[in-house]
Amino acid sequence: MTPARRLVPGALAALVLALGLWARDPRQAAPDDGLSQTFYLFGTLVEVVIRDTPEPRARAAMSMLEGDFRRLHRDWHAWRPGELTRLNAALARGQGMAVSDPLLQVLKQGQALSRESRGTFDPAIGGLVALWGFHDDLPPQGPMPDPQQIDRLVAARPRIADLRFDGHVVTSRNPAVQLDLGGYAKGAALDLAVQRLIALGIDNAVLNAGGDLQVIGRHGDRPWRVAIRDPQGWGAVAALSVEPGEGVYTSGNYERFLQGDGVRFSHIIDPRTGWPVRGIVSATVVARDGARADAGATALSVAGPDHWAEIAQAMGLDQVLLIDDSGQMLATPEMAARLELLPPTGGGRRPVLRVLHPAALN
Ligand code: ADP
Ligand code: MG
Repeated sequence: MTPARRLVPGALAALVLALGLWARDPRQAAPDDGLSQTFYLFGTLVEVVIRDTPEPRARAAMSMLEGDFRRLHRDWHAWRPGELTRLNAALARGQGMAVSDPLLQVLKQGQALSRESRGTFDPAIGGLVALWGFHDDLPPQGPMPDPQQIDRLVAARPRIADLRFDGHVVTSRNPAVQLDLGGYAKGAALDLAVQRLIALGIDNAVLNAGGDLQVIGRHGDRPWRVAIRDPQGWGAVAALSVEPGEGVYTSGNYERFLQGDGVRFSHIIDPRTGWPVRGIVSATVVARDGARADAGATALSVAGPDHWAEIAQAMGLDQVLLIDDSGQMLATPEMAARLELLPPTGGGRRPVLRVLHPAALN
């Protein structure tokens, strides 16, 4: 496939999940509506709201989270010097390194998720992500990478399956493996944060990492709700009630992309070709396991309009909403059943929602 066929039209590239629905409701603005604190994690702000908890306990929980997030940010960062970059340097030299327990666990989880995703999700492609310029806090300004360098890296076949674990010591049988946890780190971090809050006796909370979110319990007498924003504007195209224990994760091309020759390159890269994905503008997955949902959203963006349903099934994901580059919404029946489509704000046409029934797979 030629590079030109991989370009994603920029105009549609702006779907954002937001917690805007209740935030705009004045009844929820009361000061007793829980304690809220914002943290910084992997380039995103994470807003945590803890409800129905005595304030000292909620504050203590927030300060635990602050420590947890600071450690994860330091240890799992893909390019700032820390545990992961030390591991990457060791693997590139053909050496092993003993890692901390959280990193070991997330790497094993990444191996399993990559296998289930049939290689569409692979956190060992850090070399490619760096080559495309995404190892920076700001979107890359170009130039585009040299296609020969891309081909060389793809030919080296870095796979997270190449990792070997001996106790806490991690080695790789392939020195091209460069770990980048960006495709599921937020989900894995929010899973840990949820475990932390539950252990502290918190029954109702939401953790929102720039639209990727995880909920505990409920918002008063009703579920937490999220809005799915119009890819072409700021209005919401749909709303969704999030049940206790669920997470909602979206991968998209709208925030981090390389603008080259007037086109946008997604920060999601197909490990099999080394090129950014095209076709899917945005992928949203709802599941209880945050790491799986986050990895799934990345994997389904790679799988594309023709293969997403197979990969979703292989990963055990049944609640999926995709928006393709023509603005069409594609959903599993389980997701379609709970989506509340909203009238378009600008008076335009509501996007078509196409539901894929499982029978269509067989
Ligand atoms: P977001 O960061 O917008 O939530 P994703 O969850 O899809 O989006 O994560 C994208 C990040 O995942 C990239 O910035 C890169 O670090 C990493 N990545 C890109 N392509 C892949 C892939 N095929 N498999 C695993 N990780 C990937
Ligand atoms: Mg992801």
